[in-house]
Formats: sequence, structure tokens, C-alpha cells
Amino acid sequence: MSRVYNFSAGPSMLPEEVLKTAADEMLEFGTTGQSVMEMSHRSKEYQAIFDEAEANLREIMNIPDNYDVLFLQGGASTQFAMVPFNLMNKNKKADYIITGQWANKAYKEAARYGNARAVASSADKTFSYIPKTTRDDFDKDADYVHICMNNTIYGTKYHELPDTGDVPLVADISSCILSEPIDVTKFGMLYAGAQKNVAPAGVTIVIIRKDLVGNAMEQTPTMLNYQTHADNGSMFNTPPCYCIYVAGLVFKWIKKMGGLEKMKEINVKKATILYDFLDNSKLFKGTVVPEDRSLMNVPFVTGNEELDAKFVAEAKKAGFVNIKGHRSVGGMRASIYNAMPVEGVEKLVEFMKKFEEEN
Ligand SMILES: *Cc1c(COP(=O)(O)O)cnc(C)c1O
Repeated sequence: MSRVYNFSAGPSMLPEEVLKTAADEMLEFGTTGQSVMEMSHRSKEYQAIFDEAEANLREIMNIPDNYDVLFLQGGASTQFAMVPFNLMNKNKKADYIITGQWANKAYKEAARYGNARAVASSADKTFSYIPKTTRDDFDKDADYVHICMNNTIYGTKYHELPDTGDVPLVADISSCILSEPIDVTKFGMLYAGAQKNVAPAGVTIVIIRKDLVGNAMEQTPTMLNYQTHADNGSMFNTPPCYCIYVAGLVFKWIKKMGGLEKMKEINVKKATILYDFLDNSKLFKGTVVPEDRSLMNVPFVTGNEELDAKFVAEAKKAGFVNIKGHRSVGGMRASIYNAMPVEGVEKLVEFMKKFEEEN
């Protein structure tokens, strides 16, 4: 068996240790005589797995008691509708910052249910930067302000949060969750699909301040109401049991690694290796302004489409897979989530150096 270095933007690499534990426990979890996949979600064995996962997530992210943690389905994309259904409920107004495709999709969905306003955008420069905003840019009567914290496709990230005053800040953290410490108290709500940094696709994590739950619009479908899930410990219906189990293994792995401070240290190290190389290369160049660069997704180009394609093909042969940029932007993108070892980035840079010399 030889495992490749997988730079996929998602679904993406999982820690090898986690996969091995899942494999070891595949036929029998503990002494239950069954796989986690086969367990009743109402069993005490499964409830213990679930409770441990939630407790570890709360510990790692330092989530205060006045926040609910929900394990839902439907991906981050379902949150694009759930957020307005549940939060756009007082003045029926919300402010959105458009920093890429995901942010734009969230905005468009919200606009179907109320008065969504695009406050700022970086579309003018292919989303290669994070637009600056001040408190005055936001409507004081908005029910919330929505941002996409890390823009998976374009490789930008908020290193400083917008000042929204008293208006709750809602953030899509699908591609940066657990990559570094985050002050949960600065947000009304956070959400993330699991398949970038947490688990296989299938579970979506929602972290929401309790006072924001319970005011959904009248027509909100039961399954799209946060209250439904908060009142039932995310078990109103069958949760994505196995994904939550794997997420739990990842949370334990992060704890063992030394928590989010340590993850940040490793992620900064990986990103620095790659960005330093890009900044000094004569062939490759990064596409994002330095101050807004993501730690997780690193897009780059050669400036020549044919050469880009050649690089992607040769990289694949050498065991660096899924390095092609998003179909909407072209070029290359290396996604270096938590599970990508430092060695993977070092080897990629060695390979890029060699390619540069030969081309
Ligand atoms: C991947 C991604 C999404 C879409 O997630 P789904 O789970 O496929 O719905 C949304 N937002 C961001 C920032 C993403 O990276």
C-alpha cells in the first residue's frame, strides 16, 4: 500500500492514526459485538460515543455553556438557508460580505427569504483579498452579519474579524475549523461542513449562542429549525452516526497533538514553507495578497495555462494529487488541512523546485 499526499480541498485527508483506529474498530467497537455503523443511535453505547465527541469539541474549541453544539446533515450549503430561516427574524434584514463563491451562495439564499444586503465584495479582483469594513458599513438593525471566514476556493482568510457592533456575527468556518484557536464568544453562530478538517462528508457542525435559537420564521421546516435539534440533542431523527464517530476520533487526535495552539503552530509552519517558496520562485506565484492569505488553501499559478496543466499532471504522477485549482479559477491549489503532515508540504516544495529548474 502506498498512500499519496492528497491536497484535495474536500473531502480531504484524514489523520492516518484516525483511519487506523476506525479500521481496527470496524468489525467490533469495544466489546459491543458490532460496528459503530450498525448501532442504534438510541443505544447507550452510541450515546457515549456522541457525548464524548461533543465534550471533546467543546474542550478543544473552548465553547462556552451558553452555546449549543449541533451535529446536523445537509452540508454547509443547507446552513445557507437555515441561517436566514432561524436568524433573519426581527427586522428581516441581514448583511453579507462577499468574499467568494461560498459567501455569495449564502447571500443569494438569504435574499430569497428576506432583505439580504451585500455590504462589501472583493469580486473586483477575483476575490484575492478580504474587503476592509468598519462598524459604520453595517446596518445597526440587521439581524446578523454573515462572513465566510476562510475562502476555500480563493485562498483568503479573515485574520481580523469585522467590527459589527452589537449585531451578531455568523461565520462559515467549513475550511478553517480546528485549524487554530478561535474566540467563539465573538460570534453569534459558527458552522462548518465536516469534510475539510473534521470527518468524512455527512455531518455539519453548528455552534450557536442559545439566545439565537427558538425564533425561527413561522414557515421554517421542522428539520431546518435549530430548536428542533437543540431540544433533542441532535437526535430528533437519525444523526450521521458514523461521521460523528470519526469526528470524535479526530477531536481526540487533536487533543493528543496538543490542541488548537499546537495545530496552529504546525499549520503556520506548513503554510510558511509554501508561501516562502512562492514568494521567491521565478515560475510560480501565489494569487492572494500576503496579509489575507489562508493557512489552509494555497492557490498559485505559473501564468501559463499549459504549464499549469503540465505541472498538475506531473505532480499527480509523483504522488501529489488533487492539486488542480477550482474549476472557476484554474491554476493550482494546495489544500493543507490539519491532516497534511509537514513532510507532505516539504516534499511538494522540493518537487516544485525541480519542476521550476526543468521548465
Ligand atoms: C466546502 C465548503 C462549503 C460547501 O460545503 P457542503 O458541505 O458541500 O455544502 C461551504 N462553505 C465553505 C467555506 C466550504 O469550504
